[in-house]
Amino acid sequence: MMNQMYEALGISREVYDFSESVLSGLEDRFQKIDETAEYNQLKVIKAMQDARVSAECFESSSGYGYNDRGRDTLEEVYANVFRTEAALVRPQITCGTHALAIALSANLRPGDELLSISGKPYDTLEEVIGIRPSRGSLAEYGVTYAQVDLCPDGSFDYEGIRNAIKPETKLVEIQRSKGYQTRPTLSVEQIGKAISFVKSIRPDLLCMVDNCYGEFVERIEPGELGADMVVGSLIKNPGGGLAPAGGYIAGKLACVEQCAFRLTSPGLGREVGANFGVMQSFYQGLFLAPTVTAAALKGAIFAANLYEKLGFTVVPNGTEERHDIIQEIEFGFPEGVISFCEGIQAAAPVDSYVTPEPWAMPGYDSDVIMAAGAFVQGSSIELSADGPIKPPYAVYFQGGLTWPHAKLGILKSLQRLYEKKLIEIQVSGKNVN
Ligand SMILES: *Cc1c(COP(=O)(O)O)cnc(C)c1O
Repeated sequence: MMNQMYEALGISREVYDFSESVLSGLEDRFQKIDETAEYNQLKVIKAMQDARVSAECFESSSGYGYNDRGRDTLEEVYANVFRTEAALVRPQITCGTHALAIALSANLRPGDELLSISGKPYDTLEEVIGIRPSRGSLAEYGVTYAQVDLCPDGSFDYEGIRNAIKPETKLVEIQRSKGYQTRPTLSVEQIGKAISFVKSIRPDLLCMVDNCYGEFVERIEPGELGADMVVGSLIKNPGGGLAPAGGYIAGKLACVEQCAFRLTSPGLGREVGANFGVMQSFYQGLFLAPTVTAAALKGAIFAANLYEKLGFTVVPNGTEERHDIIQEIEFGFPEGVISFCEGIQAAAPVDSYVTPEPWAMPGYDSDVIMAAGAFVQGSSIELSADGPIKPPYAVYFQGGLTWPHAKLGILKSLQRLYEKKLIEIQVSGKNVN
């Protein structure tokens, strides 16, 4: 029966059998993921109960949004879930980059230095900071930037950090996820150790964690280990696929208040900001986020193991512990990247009939192919993949609101490669070449 359903969706017997043979070895890992999801689900429910979330919280507000109970209660829930003093969670924060830009510009002043201790920050932050000259960047406001790269093994360069901290250093940035780099993702524990080290040198230094793609992958979040601000996007993990837009900043009350005055206006701060009727999706998305993240994680681990068995380099590898939901697969040839993305697109509930093609994109120095058939445009907690058409011809894959959808996407990608004779599958027992 199951096989027939997959056949109806274009999956051949060979691809199905091969994938099942790989899956049978992943039960223990999937169980651990389910346990983490269970823990985090309870954490979210407890936070909602403690904040006395009620149906009234889902009511729409307009205009100034004074006394918006839904908004204020949601921020209390986020602060509780992320174990921080306060949080700012609103549709006025347009995306993750915006949330990070607010956190930085709100807490830095002319003459201050921003120090990244996890190497080059996410691409879009290069313009926020002014690493790539850009209008309105921090550099234009006289905020300088310094960077300490991670060690070759992906760990923090503690001596380098010590040497880079100067009197003008004000804020230290740590990016949890590897983003579109090949370094390992940092665990919350590793991040906590780095924060302790930074604070042992200068207790007054602010530590901000770019938490994008990391939320709910582990049982703890960076705020529990001393981060002053934890920042992310609602069209990734914490939005649970339901939030139509938005970002969050959870952290120390003083930092979050600075952010509010930057987001709205000096004098107004957190008191204004209508919710435009998105509250139910924000609450319900957060409620679903732990299990949605688990689905995405299972997809990433399945893809890693499947493609590793076929001889491709995958980062993280099939057995590594996970700290974010991104999976990289290095094909080494352009057709691999293209076929993979075609498969992901063909598995989507939305726009499945569209064929993605490599195209020139602003900010990239090569053509890029992107696959996404999402309910929320640009959402990367929904099943999506993209890759620049240049060596090592790697595809970055993430998301999946449900595990069966993630599985179908990966099977469709494999099917494409198989049909184009780019891979060989031999299933005889578990002997796969
Ligand atoms: C996605 C991402 C961002 C930016 O978030 P957007 O919502 O795309 O603006 C920043 N940092 C990391 C590590 C990310 O993965």
